[in-house]
Amino acid sequence: MDSIAPTMAPTLALHDSQTRRKQAFSPLDPQHVRVYYCGPTVYDAAHIGNLRAMLSADVLVRVLRVLYPRVTFVRNITDVDDRIADRARANGEDIATLTARTTADFHADLAELNILSPDIEPCATHHIPEMLDMIGRLIENGHAYEAEGHVLFAVRDFASYGALSGRSLDDMLAGARVEIAPYKRDPGDFVLWKPSTPDQPGWDSPYGRGRPGWHIECSAMSHRYLGESFDIHGGGDDLLFPHHENERAQSLCCYPGSRFAQVWLHNAMLLSNGEKMSKSLGNFFTIRQVITRAPAQALRLLFLSAQYRSVLDFTWEKLDDAKRTLDRFYRALERTTSIEDAPIPGAVLTALCDDLNTPLAIAALHPLADAALQGDAQAAASLKAGGKLLGLFAQSPDEWFRAGTDENAVERLIQARLDARKARDFAQADTIRAQLAAQGILLEDGPQGTTWRRA
Ligand SMILES: [Zn+2]
Repeated sequence: MDSIAPTMAPTLALHDSQTRRKQAFSPLDPQHVRVYYCGPTVYDAAHIGNLRAMLSADVLVRVLRVLYPRVTFVRNITDVDDRIADRARANGEDIATLTARTTADFHADLAELNILSPDIEPCATHHIPEMLDMIGRLIENGHAYEAEGHVLFAVRDFASYGALSGRSLDDMLAGARVEIAPYKRDPGDFVLWKPSTPDQPGWDSPYGRGRPGWHIECSAMSHRYLGESFDIHGGGDDLLFPHHENERAQSLCCYPGSRFAQVWLHNAMLLSNGEKMSKSLGNFFTIRQVITRAPAQALRLLFLSAQYRSVLDFTWEKLDDAKRTLDRFYRALERTTSIEDAPIPGAVLTALCDDLNTPLAIAALHPLADAALQGDAQAAASLKAGGKLLGLFAQSPDEWFRAGTDENAVERLIQARLDARKARDFAQADTIRAQLAAQGILLEDGPQGTTWRRA
């Protein structure tokens, strides 16, 4: 496998949702690439559908860090939302307790999947002044209006409204659930600020005590940390309309002459067992539910087995397949000793530079694993470097093969087998060995004693 020098790095091409084509990525500042992804609304455990955008962003940022000297990745936390307030009330806890716990759980889930933390993770509630500043500017320049304690964005006055999602305003409104309200000039006008009752979270503002609409959060936080124009904005394709269309409208109208995001990335949805995930179908899983039943790395590999723009169907069988693939990769890694660091294999980086083609990148790992299993230490080193770029191999082979095992119970049985052998009760020793083998534990007797690993 060829290694590549940085000067020969392939060109990154990304599919931009707005132009609807794949194009060479050209950062505004090649010395500093800036990326924004919409993060979670923290009222409930993250489900595996949420994971797709987080993983797409993770692979993107890992690739950008190979290609560019500096990358700033911002992913927000939405910690003000009516679902949060409703859930906190239902749980009988205060909002801050609920959002802090849910955020910590989200971080723990992502860490197990070896998803890197963003460089900046702003919370909406810490950026209310920035949102009010944008709202004030939009009213001033005639793109927003105040009505009955609300501030609304006037979609008809922004000629390029709909350019991102590529549909006419009337088509979009027909297909979306828009709230009809008497204070709206147009049914498509969306809320920038809304009034809060005394029992709802709220902040003082020129329009009375209230709280922000969802879309203004991301416009305010991306502006604060990445500026008026930045490189990449991403999220799930369910965010394309209205969320991203509205973010774009607010930001472009607030800062005339700016470009907001240059490239928009949207990942396709996740199916579960062939259908859209829903609690009533019994195919709804949180990340935590899945990674208590299977290794988190197997879930990561399964998700990377589909390119982010194609629909991915989650099944437990595919998760088993992913685990078996990782077993094989890890056997290849442990087959040779003293693996040195190797450059990223050219085929892996080239695949990822082609609109993050993760299935092709994984396919390029298989011949390396084949060679490594034959004892080729250089191939093993390349396998490790390629896998690490995909965020795999967070564990050592030893950790991987022992995971999920009650180590104390294994050690006790190994001791019992040694005692049996000392007593020349070989039948009993063989029985214990067979009992462990049935649990997938293989024993290896060596000069240093007996060691074990998962089959
Ligand atoms: Zn957003």
